[in-house]
Amino acid sequence: MVKIIFASTNKSKIAELNALAKNLNILLIDMKEAGIDIDIEETGNTFEENAKLKASKLSEYTDELVLADDSGLEIEYLNNEPGIYSARYLGENTTFQEKIQNFLRRLEGVEKSKRTARFVCALSMYQKGKELCTITEAIEGYIGFEPKGTSGFGYDPIFYLENDKSWAEISLEEKNKKSHRAKAFVALSKFWYEG
Ligand code: IMP
Repeated sequence: MVKIIFASTNKSKIAELNALAKNLNILLIDMKEAGIDIDIEETGNTFEENAKLKASKLSEYTDELVLADDSGLEIEYLNNEPGIYSARYLGENTTFQEKIQNFLRRLEGVEKSKRTARFVCALSMYQKGKELCTITEAIEGYIGFEPKGTSGFGYDPIFYLENDKSWAEISLEEKNKKSHRAKAFVALSKFWYEG
């Protein structure tokens, strides 16, 4: 069993990764559970920079393997907004319902073929201040015309794949077959099994 400390307290992200980790014989512990209570500012300009920054910082507090994720939504029609600002869009204290309604308003009258979007996830693994592996993956979809579903988190209710179902309408298992985060995690897992 490989033990990894995860540089986030986002329960939804951890639940998604833990469902994958179980099958790979990995035990993922969030940093608070590991007794590390720090705030890491995301000052990078890319998902990759932010993931590395978080993993590198956390690895100063433990000798265990650490993992950090930086992810977000890019809407092509809006010049790839909100991108690395996905969590901070309109301010951290705005609800996702408000963020979502704001994007739907900005996309009013835009036809389906121009509503293309992708979720991006960078995962970075460090140990004792040294970068071991960093991987960025994405999944392409589009922004629907209305939010649908209640599962998942963040922008899931407006992110649709070609089957016209939003990501808040599918199960965690289904999301984990295709998601940006799952693709990056599976690619990263090859690192400790294949070296
Ligand atoms: P961060 O990686 O903690 O900076 O935050 C990423 C933000 O991107 C989240 O708060 C969500 O708004 C969005 N995001 C990333 N991945 C997903 C996902 O799988 N579903 C929905 N929203 C996501």
